[in-house]
Amino acid sequence: MSQRHKLVVGNWKMHGSHAANAELLQGILASRPFAAEAAVCVPFPYLSEVAVTLANSGLAWGAQDCSVHEQGAYTGEVSSVMLAEFGCRYVIVGHSERRAYHGESDQLVADKAKVALARGITPIVCVGETLAQREAGETAAVVKRQLSAVVHALGQCIGEVVVAYEPVWAIGTGRTASPEQAQEVHALLRAQLAAATPRASEMKLLYGGSVKPDNAVTLFGQADIDGGLIGGAALKASDFVAILRAAS
Ligand code: PEP
Repeated sequence: MSQRHKLVVGNWKMHGSHAANAELLQGILASRPFAAEAAVCVPFPYLSEVAVTLANSGLAWGAQDCSVHEQGAYTGEVSSVMLAEFGCRYVIVGHSERRAYHGESDQLVADKAKVALARGITPIVCVGETLAQREAGETAAVVKRQLSAVVHALGQCIGEVVVAYEPVWAIGTGRTASPEQAQEVHALLRAQLAAATPRASEMKLLYGGSVKPDNAVTLFGQADIDGGLIGGAALKASDFVAILRAAS
């Protein structure tokens, strides 16, 4: 098992309400302390209240996307400059739902990672293959291509990002990659990073895709898996807390 400190990030996606958020966060905070680092990435409108609730709590927060632009006539976009004003430590970029539903290219994702880093926000860069790509034996090539765009855009700063391997076929489906399947891809990603930065061995590589309390321990026990990006199970305090404990 690695000596890297584990990180567990909740991706709330487009879920939440003032009341639901308060209940969820109180449930998580009541279970502190956690040995692992924890964060929640929430919808933009809730950043303000989450920043107040979580200030000095030990639980970090972030967003689920950011614009590649810093300001201007980009209706509907939210910049990393704005996210920084709300104390975001993290921003997810390149989630498969953004790639699939909003046509985000590898280059756009890489550029978003770059603007976030420039504002002191750690990008959580998602990579992952579809089921068709896995069945065609293309997993390694797909994740390599996706990560490569980020490596080229960031140069030596690549050492500052978090990478999340999220096989598309495992997201929200209840179908998890086996620990061996996940580890195999994580090892490939770390080797690719090692060719780009001496900091690769310190970098956090998260697994995401139907992580639940009952599979988290084995997944997080793999040599190159440093925690998780959690969707559905991040919406229930007891599940998120159990996953955090599994990462301890
Ligand atoms: C995600 O959306 O990043 C995710 C991993 O979702 P789930 O845990 O629900 O599969």
